[in-house]
Amino acid sequence: MDEHVDTVVIGGSQSGLSVGYHLAQRGCRFVILDAHDRVGDAWRRRWDSLRLFTTARYDGLPGMPFPAPTHAYPTKGEVADYLLAYAQRFDLPVETGVTVHRLARDGRRFVVAAGDRAITADNVVVATGTYHTPRVPAFADGLDPTIRQLHSKAYRNPSQLQAGDVLVVGAGNSGAEIALEVSEHHRTWLSGRDPGQEPTRAGSLPDRLLHPVMWFVASRVLTIDSPIGRRVRDHFLDPPRGIPLGRARRSDIRAAGIDRVPRTTGVRDGRPRLEDGRSLEVSNVIWCTGFEMDLSWIDLPVIGDHGFPRQEYGLVPSQPGLYFMGLPFQRSLSSALLGGVGRDAGFIADHIAARTAGMPAMSA
Ligand code: FAD
Repeated sequence: MDEHVDTVVIGGSQSGLSVGYHLAQRGCRFVILDAHDRVGDAWRRRWDSLRLFTTARYDGLPGMPFPAPTHAYPTKGEVADYLLAYAQRFDLPVETGVTVHRLARDGRRFVVAAGDRAITADNVVVATGTYHTPRVPAFADGLDPTIRQLHSKAYRNPSQLQAGDVLVVGAGNSGAEIALEVSEHHRTWLSGRDPGQEPTRAGSLPDRLLHPVMWFVASRVLTIDSPIGRRVRDHFLDPPRGIPLGRARRSDIRAAGIDRVPRTTGVRDGRPRLEDGRSLEVSNVIWCTGFEMDLSWIDLPVIGDHGFPRQEYGLVPSQPGLYFMGLPFQRSLSSALLGGVGRDAGFIADHIAARTAGMPAMSA
């Protein structure tokens, strides 16, 4: 079945919905396609106890503040419900349960293939997130098969673990929070580099006072337009690494009795081996080692360093009409956060609106 739409947005979570909001404001014709059954499912599928590390004040998308007290840390369920309510309030044309399996070009138009549908479009926004393929070291295959292994993508709660000790590999925010949770039931080891921590405890008075300053820095100072912003971008993306601990703090990790150990670098006799040579007798390993972005379904030469697309502010210079949304440091440190996507989305919608206005024959 062949169809034509001026703009196809692929992905209907925070990034895709923000672009949709701005496209609608500009009177553009578009559709948002999302693989999940319900808007917000990207959040519903994360672990049960997950709460945001950003407060509600900084979790709103354009045009609709997050419905929670300013200093609250919303749960993942509240985020999912907010996204669904957002799509409904602005009557955004989201088609759920539609997985795009190929994006290619046919002359000046793009062809978006989903199942037996082939949709042609003048513009395409890829807003499919960055958390696709769990990154697990190859040596994980050498662990004893009796050890239960999970990636943070599959982790929901401690009931998934078997009796015995737990090694959490990766000491960023996900690793620290999951280690704190499982340490209530199991002796727990947390392995990996210390990513640092935010200067103040989440929710404390100093934190509340500092938050507006930190948000200003994250969205207005640490941008790719400033030398310091570019330095910070390269620090976090080349190679990719996690941001400092937010809600979980080093003192919480110590107080929970978690053994803080160096990186896990291999396997000895079926057991995980640490950088310092020790091997650990654990029954469970939780890999909090991040994700790779999967753009293999995009049949266009857009992939650059570390699997991220080559783009500038979300625009792909080599493929006019192709855009990305929600990338880390697309414009600023806050670009991939709920409160930061709106500005990038407005910029891209402006670009699409101008392009569409200059191409009446293409969008007829
Ligand atoms: P996603 O939410 O990943 O959504 C992508 C959408 O694209 C999905 O709905 C998916 O179904 C769809 N899709 C993917 N591929 C296809 C395809 N081929 N065809 C059709 N549809 C497709 N941010 C904050 O601001 N505050 C926080 O406290 C915070 N905490 C976080 C905690 C964790 C553990 C993680 C992982 C992230 C956190 N983030 C936080 C970061 C960020 O807000 C989220 O990652 C956010 O989900 C990214 O939104 P997105 O719309 O870009 O992508």
